[in-house]
Amino acid sequence: MGKTVKKFETEVQQLLDLVIHSLYSNKEIFLRELISNASDAIDKIRFESHSNMELLEGNADWKIKLHADKEAGTLTIVDNGIGMSMDEVADNIGTIAKSGTRNFVAALKEQNATDNPELIGQFGVGFYASFMVADKVTLKTRKAGGKEYGCCWESTGDGSYTIEECEKEFRGTEITLHLKDDMKEFLEEWKIRSIVKKYSDYVQYPVVMDVTRSEPVKDQDGKVIEGGGTIENTAEETLNSMKAIWARPKSEITEEEYEEFYKHISHDYDKPLSTIHYSAEGVSEFKSIVYIPSHKPFDLFLRDHKKGVHLYVKRVYITDNCEALLPDYLRFVKGVVDSSDLPLNVSREILQEDVQIKRIQKNLVGKILSTLAEMKEKNPDDYLTFWAEFGPVIKEGIHFDYANKEKLQDLIIFESSKTDKGKFVSFKEYVERMPESQKEIYYITGVNRESVENSPYMEVFKKKDYEVLYLTDPVDEWVVQALHEYKEKHLKAIDRGDLELESEEEKKEKEAQKEEAQKEYGTLLSFIQETLKEKVKEVRLSSRLTESACCLVADEMGLNANMEKILKAMNQEVPEGKRILELNPDHPIMQVMTSMYEKDKGNAKLGDYCELLFDQALLTEGSPIKDPLRFTKLVSELMVTGGK
Ligand code: ADP
Ligand code: MG
Repeated sequence: MGKTVKKFETEVQQLLDLVIHSLYSNKEIFLRELISNASDAIDKIRFESHSNMELLEGNADWKIKLHADKEAGTLTIVDNGIGMSMDEVADNIGTIAKSGTRNFVAALKEQNATDNPELIGQFGVGFYASFMVADKVTLKTRKAGGKEYGCCWESTGDGSYTIEECEKEFRGTEITLHLKDDMKEFLEEWKIRSIVKKYSDYVQYPVVMDVTRSEPVKDQDGKVIEGGGTIENTAEETLNSMKAIWARPKSEITEEEYEEFYKHISHDYDKPLSTIHYSAEGVSEFKSIVYIPSHKPFDLFLRDHKKGVHLYVKRVYITDNCEALLPDYLRFVKGVVDSSDLPLNVSREILQEDVQIKRIQKNLVGKILSTLAEMKEKNPDDYLTFWAEFGPVIKEGIHFDYANKEKLQDLIIFESSKTDKGKFVSFKEYVERMPESQKEIYYITGVNRESVENSPYMEVFKKKDYEVLYLTDPVDEWVVQALHEYKEKHLKAIDRGDLELESEEEKKEKEAQKEEAQKEYGTLLSFIQETLKEKVKEVRLSSRLTESACCLVADEMGLNANMEKILKAMNQEVPEGKRILELNPDHPIMQVMTSMYEKDKGNAKLGDYCELLFDQALLTEGSPIKDPLRFTKLVSELMVTGGK
């Protein structure tokens, strides 16, 4: 097959233009990216070779080799990893398929990133980072177990690349950067040495370079010969320590090292929010470092989100997404687990069922949840950041992780009628500050703080000065259903059923008042109910309202307005349920309607008023009314008569 010229995807080209023209100061990260790719490629062939030794072709001396050629002005990175086939090269290096770069492109579209070169540092651009320092990049690769021929890819980053078959003796990948004129410092030994130390020290495979030293000439016994001159000696030197960071004592690891390791395994370019370095001993023995990121990936709620922690067995890489190590609701956690109990030849299928893995999971989940609890106590600001990013995912846990329900319920926080906007209260704090007279935990669900704050259901709670939790995340409906109660305090929706807010005495008094009102308004209530029978299940007097004339409430078991909205948004069938219309006995409308009714039962206006009451109730809770035209017509008529 001859040479083919192909165009980059538009998005790749946008990215490349940005990389090439950006003023981003931290250009040295290109080397970290290439070394990390080489290390990933070696990880992959090591894993594959557990089940197919032939892939190795007798070459298992794992190594990432750097070669600086000052005359040619090139820096070459060579690995003996898995390599790529022709198709893989076109797929991996010509399109934006991977999440890190997609995140970057999304951010690019949102804000003008050319004005903000630091963005590149935040997101990283993987392989494309090469173009920050090189004006031409040549990649030669041969896939393990593949054809005899390799593949050669080349580009100057200006719209297109070429791809063709080529000779390549050894398996693996070789990337040659033709450095830009002002980037020649990356050919200097000291420079390369310091970059490797800084970013890639923990990489598991030797990163080597031929280093030439001039040494004094020595005699046979190794003694320096006086006046004998010097001789150039070239030897391969390993630049990184290769120590598995998780196996080292905590006290010896610096903040920067933890951070660099996080970036290496997570492909994130921000610092993590929290680092958990943890060794378990006893029934299950493992070492781990896991991280809580400081922001969520764009695909956290998409089905193909790649979750999982890297799994090693006795320092040997097994997989970079061992899903069974963490439950779904902790899918944002990144890190490594190195187990001493699993067999080296464990297969990915077996991992799902393995009891050792289940033990590790249990242990790790406990550790993560207690770290979060501690963060909530001691670093409330960090916890708020965490909650804003991952709160909705943690709430999923309430549903799925029954064993940890107690711990999870204490991690959940909500805004409430007693917090400012953006401030939160936990169930624990809520219960602690409940007045003695209050028996239940009250909440209201809705689309946002503003809508629930001003809803008529809140009136009586404002009067009583009881705190109401604002549940404005769609998953909250499921959270309260799954929780049901907190420390034997029932969770009660304030737009459902009877509230029973009164003390025994108040209750008696209220009953008496209600009876009185019932006598006064009983026939009117039956009339309204008859008129609205297609729309409401019942009409009754309310004890929730102090200002509004009316509201709609659901049965204890029924669907409230918010749940209806959520189900509709999910395209789910919503059962046609009728709700209860509650009227405020102290509202002047009641007297007006009663006297209209007593004067003339057949007054056509009475029917209109019933409709208006019902529509008002819908509007105040933020639901659409069926016939807005008729509603406005009635209101206009009222304005005309009222104004006369
Ligand atoms: P990422 O490493 O985040 O996936 P990169 O842009 O760094 O993104 O690399 C893109 C893809 O190209 C990799 O996922 C891998 O499939 C492939 N690749 C890059 N470098 C190598 C290499 N040295 N050996 C084999 N495959 C590689
Ligand atoms: Mg990479």
